[in-house]
Amino acid sequence: MSPDLPGYDEAAALVAAYCARLARLRLPSERVDLSLAAGRVLAQSLRADRDQPPFARSTRDGYACRAHEASKRKFLRLAGASRAGDPPAGALPKGAAWEIMTGAPVPAGADAVMMIEHAEQAGAKVRLLPPRKIEEGENIVAQGAQALEGEELLPAGSSIQSAQIALAAACGHAVLEVFVRPRVAILTTGDELVPVEFSPAPGQIRNSNASMLVAMVQAAGGEPWVLPTAADDAGALDAALAQAADSSLLLITGGVSAGKFDLVEPALARAGARFHFTGVRIQPGKPLVFGELPRDRQLARKARGEQRVLPFFGLPGNPISSAVTFLLFAAPALAALARRLECGPRFALARLAAKTGKHGKPGVPPQRPRAVAGGPGLTRFLPASCTFGGAAGRLPEVTPLPMHGSGDLAALARSNCFLVVPEEAHTLDAGATVRILLP
Ligand code: AMP
Ligand code: MG
Repeated sequence: MSPDLPGYDEAAALVAAYCARLARLRLPSERVDLSLAAGRVLAQSLRADRDQPPFARSTRDGYACRAHEASKRKFLRLAGASRAGDPPAGALPKGAAWEIMTGAPVPAGADAVMMIEHAEQAGAKVRLLPPRKIEEGENIVAQGAQALEGEELLPAGSSIQSAQIALAAACGHAVLEVFVRPRVAILTTGDELVPVEFSPAPGQIRNSNASMLVAMVQAAGGEPWVLPTAADDAGALDAALAQAADSSLLLITGGVSAGKFDLVEPALARAGARFHFTGVRIQPGKPLVFGELPRDRQLARKARGEQRVLPFFGLPGNPISSAVTFLLFAAPALAALARRLECGPRFALARLAAKTGKHGKPGVPPQRPRAVAGGPGLTRFLPASCTFGGAAGRLPEVTPLPMHGSGDLAALARSNCFLVVPEEAHTLDAGATVRILLP
């Protein structure tokens, strides 16, 4: 099976290395409000504005004490009380304890906090309940334990999600410096396509790839730019490619197979493309094309950054093929262009379920336990449903979904991952540990 085409690993490594080189070019940044920063990429490292935590903090409700005194389990005099928000108290007198709430500053001299559940209070005295002991440092987070003032908490290139937003908020960063989002041109091709809001004539279908790719590009950190659909016609494709030049990455769908009206590759060649590969030993998605177009100098300067070339992917038009090849190759490339440190794709382990899922056709009984067939010489990626909420200590369980060809959007929409069938596997048996590709 086409031994001259790269296999999945080889093609992925080639794309990753290529995009890592592009990602070293300068890319402008902009400032965004913290509330709008989710999904963006830090352009500067995030630093602690003061020690984190800013004071020695109690992690429990209880009594601040000296561990060696409390461990004798004799009553200690209560010298005061602190609640969260109180300023740090003075020093803890010898032989005394200090009532303290979670989040309050621990008084100087105290080195542990007895939990309220482990202590006995009698009037203004408290002791550790026998036979308990307490160690130095228990239930206290020391000042600066997470970071000292000025220290880097997150490097540039970190993806910003809720946790990073919380950390930025804790450090007083109401505005963040983030990279501009790479603009991703989306060019769908095909005489049969009509826009979503049109009624298709006999033989026509609605353009679902454009809408799907907009969502996928956004999730991968890009700014989608949908071009008008190009007809399967040399002139139309030439004009569309010229228009797409004003972007950082070009995604084309359709027209890359071997058919009479698959005219995308010749159009790319006319536009001066350098092809890095024109097929990969995967299924679906074998006709995937990856390469670069020369970029007009003026446009390169006007567009964000210093990219002198426009990388492109020619994704096969079938929706599942487009989705799989985007996830495997275009999303990591886009993540690199967006300067994300983590560029995917994301694989995980799962256990192959014994039966097909509950999403089979209504009225068709579930199939018997069976093996999944491999495609010799091809790595396969099958839409599958994985249950992640299983018993502790057990792998998630994955079930390939019944599918009617690579255009089966219903199967794609019911899936939450892809089952990976390695190219050397003849079959995968029920119960086997398998890899899944996560969206
Ligand atoms: P192609 O890669 O052009 O040979 O197309 C393969 C299959 O995908 C054909 O059945 C096309 O009609 C379908 N297809 C191509 N582009 C799209 C699109 N943008 N949306 C939905 N289906 C598409
Ligand atoms: Mg076509």
